[in-house]
Amino acid sequence: MSLQSSEPKMISILGATGSVGESSLDIVCSDPERYQIRALTAHRNVDKLAEAARLSKADYAAVADEASYGRLKELLSGTGIEVGAGEIGLEHAATLPADIVIGAIVGAAGIKPTMAALKAGNQLALANKETLVCAGDLVMAEARRQDLRILPVDSEHNAIFQIFDEANIDEIDEVTITASGGPFRTWAQADIEKATAEQALKHPNWDMGAKITIDSASMMNKGLEVIEAHHLYAVRQDKFKVVVHPQSIIHGMVSYSDGSVLAHLAAPDMRTPIAHCLAWPERAAAKTKRLDLIALGQMTFEAPDPVRFPCLQLALDAMKAGGNMPNIMNAANEIAVAAFLEGEITFGGIASLVEAVMTKMDGDGGLPVSSLDLVLELDQKARQLALELKS
Ligand code: NAD
Ligand code: MG
Repeated sequence: MSLQSSEPKMISILGATGSVGESSLDIVCSDPERYQIRALTAHRNVDKLAEAARLSKADYAAVADEASYGRLKELLSGTGIEVGAGEIGLEHAATLPADIVIGAIVGAAGIKPTMAALKAGNQLALANKETLVCAGDLVMAEARRQDLRILPVDSEHNAIFQIFDEANIDEIDEVTITASGGPFRTWAQADIEKATAEQALKHPNWDMGAKITIDSASMMNKGLEVIEAHHLYAVRQDKFKVVVHPQSIIHGMVSYSDGSVLAHLAAPDMRTPIAHCLAWPERAAAKTKRLDLIALGQMTFEAPDPVRFPCLQLALDAMKAGGNMPNIMNAANEIAVAAFLEGEITFGGIASLVEAVMTKMDGDGGLPVSSLDLVLELDQKARQLALELKS
């Protein structure tokens, strides 16, 4: 990548119709001299995908749902934008030569396209934390093989990226990931357990997709993020700390052996880490929310409560167990969150279902993350088991 290139950077967005996808399009489209869209993908919202492809003058658009191919083709006819569908379409979008591929698909559905982008030698800006949780060893190995950095879009990981002194890695004592605490931060355990989807979907600081919003309410999101961080940053597992910070202004901190603590602050706005990844290693102006410390007045901090938020502890246990346990835990959680949103299980039922699947698949969890096929096979097995156990 040239530092002083006059050509715009070509950007592909996997998961362009989601919350991170939309914020990414906002940054890209507001600076056409710097960025242009190569490819966009979506699950099945073809109308939104086609509109985004037209507006951004993408070269290629793909929809994961094969049944939606005809409609996408119709919507984009006469535009010169090529279209594709299904696994092949997503893979094509991921592997078209691009300066940056933004991985913004939600869940383990992102694993294959993310790996495809990396294997094609495309620089990855990754929001899709589940891919690192499930297949982190494979993703990081491929990135090393390609001599590519994984640029973290997740706000906490992006914060750490900006303050993590690789050259002095042995002098790092702690890496702190902050958590807002979600909508149930102050609630009693009994009330959390019977919380409704409507209550869980009301995040105090961030406007995000449904799955991550529920994960934030259960604090599974923070557990996934610790696992994500331990793949991205090569320090011992026990050096990662979670601190609840309800204002979501400090996103990450790195503590050094001389007592220095570096923190990254920003107003809660995903466009900031996205803009950072897209411009990296340069910086570029972006229309993002600005931080006003005087208006903010104060910042507060608390310890996370593993009793009221058992999902956080389950994720930390899965990380400690290693192997495929985080992958199994993630699959069970995806099924549990979907079941909760469908009204099939209670909010408290999410943690119980995840724990039950982890216990029953303890043996499989011990298998190393040796291949993508094994990861996907165990993902399916854990989903199946979770579906059986929930009913
Ligand atoms: P979202 O639900 O708003 O969007 C998800 C995107 O993925 C959509 O474009 C959807 O079409 C696509 N998608 C869903 N299922 C798919 C499938 N089976 N195959 C192909 N595409 C599929 O989610 P989001 O909030 O934008 O989050 C995306 C990812 O980024 C998640 O992994 C999340 O944890 C992470 N993340 C999100 C935020 C945020 O602020 N929203 C912050 C940090 C990290
Ligand atoms: Mg985050």
